[in-house]
Amino acid sequence: MNQSTFRQDDARKIDSSSVRKVYVCILIKSMRLLIIEDEPDLLRALSRALREDGYAVDAAEDGEDGLYKALNQEYDAILLDWMLPIMNGLALLTELRKKKSTPVIMLTAKGKVDQRIEGLKAGADDYLTKPFDINELRARLQAIIRRSAGQAQNRIIIGDVTVDTWSKTVSLKGTAAQLTAREYALMEYLALRRGKMVSRTELFEHLFDENEDSLSNLLDVRVSLVRKKLGADLIQTRRGHGYCIP
Ligand code: CA
Repeated sequence: MNQSTFRQDDARKIDSSSVRKVYVCILIKSMRLLIIEDEPDLLRALSRALREDGYAVDAAEDGEDGLYKALNQEYDAILLDWMLPIMNGLALLTELRKKKSTPVIMLTAKGKVDQRIEGLKAGADDYLTKPFDINELRARLQAIIRRSAGQAQNRIIIGDVTVDTWSKTVSLKGTAAQLTAREYALMEYLALRRGKMVSRTELFEHLFDENEDSLSNLLDVRVSLVRKKLGADLIQTRRGHGYCIP
């Protein structure tokens, strides 16, 4: 099933009790990650697993390329290996922190307690020791992304609309709303930044990865579909600026 073509028509073919499960399991492309890791097998496995979870994933195989991407793109989180060619993870993090506060999870070799402390001092938000369980990585990623958006809860309530960032579902007056994956991604991004104006450029940067074309009218189409499903006043347009959930 292609995530962006899953429509209400498809949902109607499934009995209502399984609809909720489908929407929980559906692949969501709501956040953009950078993985900086020089072990090809690990990089491939991580990228694949996180893309399957719905993240937009960019990759870098050395510290120099990683720092360049980290400084020039807006990522929701970065996975940063410690031992890297050209520039190691700690040096990269130190440089990054002079300019940006993007959440970083450092990947360190097993048992290197000093590295963890050094990493946290240099501004890492969390660390994982190799080898790690992908589910632990998933949980920590979710936690630091929520934290950086200033949102400690899984649920964001906006009037009659509830966004559940853990199950990736939206409900309207207690009934599950049938959003496509991209509509959900848009809704979650704006809901996490409620009250703030989000520019169109920022939305593009977070909802699409470097391999995708983004047509600007697709964004307007998605916004109008979300309004149709959740309420006309939910997302406000500030002409020339962007979108906002007040
Ligand atoms: Ca390495």
